[in-house]
Amino acid sequence: RNFIVGLTGGIGSGKSTVAQGFAAHGVCVVDADEIAHQLTAPGGAAMPAITAEFGQTMQQADGAMDRAAMRQLVFTDSSARSRLEAILHPMIRTECATQLARASSPYALLMVPLLIESAAYRARCDRILVVDCPPEIQLQRLMARSALSEAEARRIMAAQTSREARLAAATEVIDNSGEHAALQARIDALHQHYLLESAKPFV
Ligand code: ATP
Repeated sequence: RNFIVGLTGGIGSGKSTVAQGFAAHGVCVVDADEIAHQLTAPGGAAMPAITAEFGQTMQQADGAMDRAAMRQLVFTDSSARSRLEAILHPMIRTECATQLARASSPYALLMVPLLIESAAYRARCDRILVVDCPPEIQLQRLMARSALSEAEARRIMAAQTSREARLAAATEVIDNSGEHAALQARIDALHQHYLLESAKPFV
């Protein structure tokens, strides 16, 4: 039975940056977002079901899902959102489980943006690591990274699980309000902690 550390945090909090820091220690990272992307890429395993459900209009010429069109549709139509999730979520869960079972490092990171909201993923995790960052810094970094307007960034942040709820669910927290060097030092210390924890017998 492999030891799993769930990694989550708000949009732009630094999840990918943190995952890279652990990967540098040889820790296997299973990324639910990346899996969702692959499932809906050209030739992706979810594409037949998606075109059967939504028609060819949601498929680009290259065979990938038309992300912009789908985003627009599910934003205005909650039944469409449920139908898309009914296709994708079981496939994402299965692929996460497959990759976790293959993981050869002493413990693995399971990166799921909606970890706190999902009882099934939470139950699979031995620890929950939350990347935390004050909203103002999160906003600054988000806007520096993408063409998001401040209003749009604030809207997404407000729609997510609250910072308080995330912190309440955490077994460990990474404060990512500082410099990259401070972040890596914290990751290095946590890595040692998880190595010890994962080596304890499971009772
Ligand atoms: P998303 O929710 O969109 O997937 P994320 O939580 O994975 O985002 P990252 O992409 O890791 O977050 O970080 C968001 C942005 O902030 C990136 O441009 C990243 O380079 C930058 N960033 C992360 N940590 C720091 C830091 N400690 N100092 C400065 N910039 C940082």
